[in-house]
Amino acid sequence: MKLDTPETAPPLDAQERREVRPIICYPPDALAPPQMDRYRAAAKGMIKRDEVLVQPRDAACFSVKAGQIFRIVSVDGPQVGDLNLWNANDLTERFYSGKTRALHGTHVSTGDRLWTSFPHMRPMATIIGDSLDWYGFDEFGGSVHDVIGTRCDPYTGRLLSGNDYHYCCHSNLTRALAAETGLPLNEAEAHVHDVLNVFMCTGFTRDTGQYFMKASPVRPGDHLDFMAEIDILGGLSACPGGDCGGEHSSDVAPCYPLLVEVFDPAPGSMDGWHPSTGNPYIGGHGT
Ligand SMILES: [Zn+2]
Repeated sequence: MKLDTPETAPPLDAQERREVRPIICYPPDALAPPQMDRYRAAAKGMIKRDEVLVQPRDAACFSVKAGQIFRIVSVDGPQVGDLNLWNANDLTERFYSGKTRALHGTHVSTGDRLWTSFPHMRPMATIIGDSLDWYGFDEFGGSVHDVIGTRCDPYTGRLLSGNDYHYCCHSNLTRALAAETGLPLNEAEAHVHDVLNVFMCTGFTRDTGQYFMKASPVRPGDHLDFMAEIDILGGLSACPGGDCGGEHSSDVAPCYPLLVEVFDPAPGSMDGWHPSTGNPYIGGHGT
């Protein structure tokens, strides 16, 4: 955080320097756009193939083939979900929250893509439906579905509270991935990464730039829908913070399950479509 009382006197041209206009770091318009017309047609006649119910304060894994659609649904009560995504065929290629944020902003919605880690850096999923898209940004600068938080975890919790709590999203995702893959817990943990905070309402305070959360506007029936651009193994944790309006990293908040549904696209809608391919950067890094 910035000092309340800076130790350095401002230069004479401080005002001039502050008035320089910002520019967007990574204008996403230069990216090849997702095939939204096709994806909307695919969703219109989609056929349900599978579902996984994620229990409160726990996580579960789910599999989605490239060209299938998956939907995360709020059921029973307002609940936030912490989402991890991996390439189903190579766990080292995984969702890259930071680059997704750099390209699409702090909070994602319909038309935004979730990108994979280097050296792959390609779209792994495209958001094709968001029943909370009406929320926009509130008066506090908050919005939903952020890629700024990391995930609640027992390490930070221990440092801040002095307590060991085992049902944070990080631990939930670790247990779920270990159970799904057969990996030992410590190896599974190394694959757990910064999340997409599904339904969570967050922002940065305007005066101090601190990460904040507030009770999610999600209600049962709300959903976030994705087109899988590659074969995906997903992990979703129903955060112990519930709607994240109060405490997290404890058993205090009311928590509800989350449902993941997997659909085949409408018949014929994806004919001639191909999964996303690897990044065309030539490699070598100048050597
Ligand atoms: Zn959490």
